[in-house]
Amino acid sequence: MKCPVCGKGELHPVDDIVSEIEGLAFVERGRRCSICGEEFVDEGDSNRTIKVARRLGVWGSPLKLKRKLSHSGRGIVLRIPEDLRQSMGLKGTEAVALSKVGSRKILLEVESEESS
Ligand SMILES: [Zn+2]
Repeated sequence: MKCPVCGKGELHPVDDIVSEIEGLAFVERGRRCSICGEEFVDEGDSNRTIKVARRLGVWGSPLKLKRKLSHSGRGIVLRIPEDLRQSMGLKGTEAVALSKVGSRKILLEVESEESS
């Protein structure tokens, strides 16, 4: 399948296209051009992401939270605001996974609660 953007590359199936909805990152399946890197999300997957976003209550709600990072001891700290903490039921003892998903974007996933 040829890329409709550059007309040179081939579109390869990928499963790591990151779409941002209301400040949250969703990973979707689709195709990516081998030459220009243009990404095309499968329509089915895109619809599913929108449904998930609606179910999470982020679609159309002002959930893009702006916070400043601060320094603390050995690193940079991001404070999770109280309303977000409550809506996610976070206790502050959970393990989280950080992934760099763009030059200026980080995906933070709550993995599980630490046992100790
Ligand atoms: Zn292309």
